[in-house]
Amino acid sequence: KAKDNGRNQYSFFSKELEVSLSKRINMLKELKEAVNRDEFRLYYQPKFSLIDGSIKSAEALIRWDSKEFGFVSPDDFIPLSEDSGEIVKIGAWVIKQACEDFASWSELGLGITQVSVNVSNVQFTRDDIVKVLSDNIIKSGISPESIEVEITESYMQEDSERALQILHDVRKIGVDLAVDDFGTGYSSMSYLKRLPINRLKIDRSFIGDIPHDVDDVEITRIIVALAKTMGLAITAEGIETLEQMHFLQEMGVDEGQGYICSKPLPYEQFVELLKKKNSCIE
Ligand code: C2E
Ligand code: MG
Ligand code: MG
Ligand code: MG
Repeated sequence: KAKDNGRNQYSFFSKELEVSLSKRINMLKELKEAVNRDEFRLYYQPKFSLIDGSIKSAEALIRWDSKEFGFVSPDDFIPLSEDSGEIVKIGAWVIKQACEDFASWSELGLGITQVSVNVSNVQFTRDDIVKVLSDNIIKSGISPESIEVEITESYMQEDSERALQILHDVRKIGVDLAVDDFGTGYSSMSYLKRLPINRLKIDRSFIGDIPHDVDDVEITRIIVALAKTMGLAITAEGIETLEQMHFLQEMGVDEGQGYICSKPLPYEQFVELLKKKNSCIE
């Protein structure tokens, strides 16, 4: 393939690079304005009991409705906002919005008991995350148990004593903690043991080929066993088929999330879903 392009290759790639760099700069410029312009949206994906199918909680997932770039998915702007520090402001907006939305679900009596928010490592290191959480919880009049913070495995890498202290402080105010995408990072078992967490979320890369991929099945089994030993709840993310769901139920996973129940929905549609559907297991 490289041969086909011949000597045009260099200029081709350097042009690509130029485009992506200027796009990055432009995107960052827009990103800095996006909170003020009210361009972010929170979508909600139900999480459901694998025991009785009931929808008890939801994960908040951000989308950017950009004037310049259209609808941008988080994978395309979260890394940039982390590198630039913009995530501090964006992440605070996410927490505020999720608390407000949760308060209105409660008023509507929708039976949702918790909302999960993804919190970036950068928010832990560059912001007072405990204050952001408690301020918004108080302002929206909800109880702290209504919030679950999802952290990534990589959170624990640098400055671990301080990182650990912050997690303890988050738990102290009554907020739950889950480790997201579990199995994709490299947690040490001794460290994991010290984390004041409630839940592990098995990454969807292990779920997608269950039960056909023997390795994925074994990895999932090990994660489930680990969680049980440590007294943690488990969520399997990315469940798409009945076959996957049944397998996870047999393994003793207590909570699921995935297209089999619903994709992430804008606020109004999420409320509609809850009004007409209260189980994700037929
Ligand atoms: P995540 O926290 O692991 O979220 C789960 C992702 O899996 C979501 O992608 C969701 O739409 C997708 N998903 C759920 N069920 C299925 C399924 O059955 N099949 C498939 N193929 N995908 C499924 P999304 O919304 O694009 O978010 C991507 C990532 O962006 C998130 O992964 C999270 O790491 C990050 N993210 C999203 N919102 C926020 C936020 O508010 N703050 C931060 N810091 N990161 C966020
Ligand atoms: Mg998540
Ligand atoms: Mg996840
Ligand atoms: Mg994931």
